Amino acid sequence: MTKRISAFLTTERPATPCLVVDLAVVAENYRKLADALPEAGIYYAVKANPAPEILRLLAALGSAFDAASVPEIEMVLAEGGSPERISYGNTIKKKADIAAAHALGVQLFAFDSRAELEKIATAAPGAKVFCRILTSGEGAEWPLSRKFGCSPSTASRLLREAKALGLQPWGVSFHVGSQQRNPGQWKCAVGAAARIFRELAEDGIDLQMLNIGGGLPARYRRKVPSLPVYARVIRTAIRKHFGNRLPDVIVEPGRQMVGEAGIIETEVVLISRKSRSDDRRWVYLDIGRFGGLAETEAEAIQYPIRSRRKGRGEAVVLAGPTCDSADILYQKAEYRLPLDLQIGDRLQIRSAGAYTATYASVAFNGFQPLRCYCI
Ligand SMILES: *Cc1c(COP(=O)(O)O)cnc(C)c1O
Repeated sequence: MTKRISAFLTTERPATPCLVVDLAVVAENYRKLADALPEAGIYYAVKANPAPEILRLLAALGSAFDAASVPEIEMVLAEGGSPERISYGNTIKKKADIAAAHALGVQLFAFDSRAELEKIATAAPGAKVFCRILTSGEGAEWPLSRKFGCSPSTASRLLREAKALGLQPWGVSFHVGSQQRNPGQWKCAVGAAARIFRELAEDGIDLQMLNIGGGLPARYRRKVPSLPVYARVIRTAIRKHFGNRLPDVIVEPGRQMVGEAGIIETEVVLISRKSRSDDRRWVYLDIGRFGGLAETEAEAIQYPIRSRRKGRGEAVVLAGPTCDSADILYQKAEYRLPLDLQIGDRLQIRSAGAYTATYASVAFNGFQPLRCYCI
């Protein structure tokens, strides 16, 4: 926890649950990434945390943005982003939304199917388009599965067709899966993208852009390689597969940019045992699966959770406050909290700046969405 967040929580004592994001950490994460991949354009994935203060800060630092909807595009524009530095990266868009984005000045659109390409050709004639290819998602704690992307051979064909439809075939993208713990996953994907560049070059179509997506991790409980390790693997793969015809590289960090910048402060609502012989206490918090911790599904993302008490730790089951049995955070993963933990205590859920505030339901069981303070 940063000194600034700690001081804010002590002096303001905001109602819980709440997310507190230290903007200084976001700025530092931006600089770390810019240093590690100096040749890459940084397109912040807005969905990770679209707080206006974060968008404003990143726009001022020179970031571009990956947006998935017209409202996300409008949020970026409202905070000083410019439309030519926005990628409409969702492969699933309504035609009316493509037209609205185009009217706002957005020039760069993702697709992974013929039907989407046709929508873009009619709603945003002449736009730059890039095709997303499938990856395995292996090694990712929050894989993106087969929902997005097409096979490399389909991508080659569609990029040729893009030209015939009056669009500008601009490049290839992929996403190796969120919280990707294996930097090696970028190697294969970069290789597959480079083959598409070569195939199209044979037909006289010169692609410009390689979009290496998101997937760079935040530190949760499990160890992850450092950012320079990822950068080295990625840059080596690009040099190996593209030789001296290097593409314009763009990277779309979400979790890396904001994950470690935020802490959720939560209150213990209940501590109980199911029977006298129950060897684990149940600790119920005022935030759960529906209040912003959606990524605890299948215990995929394991946030570090801290108490200010110093007593000996004992294994617990952690659950949220709603009347839904899916609202259990961690049952299999071993979490320990001090034996002297009391109802009413506040706990800190660390590295919670990404994919929390916007994942909170509007009012399930009457609980309000997660409040986000940017300091
Ligand atoms: C969500 C998303 C990202 C960000 O992914 P992280 O794993 O958080 O870095 C990047 N690009 C696209 C297209 C996305 O949908």
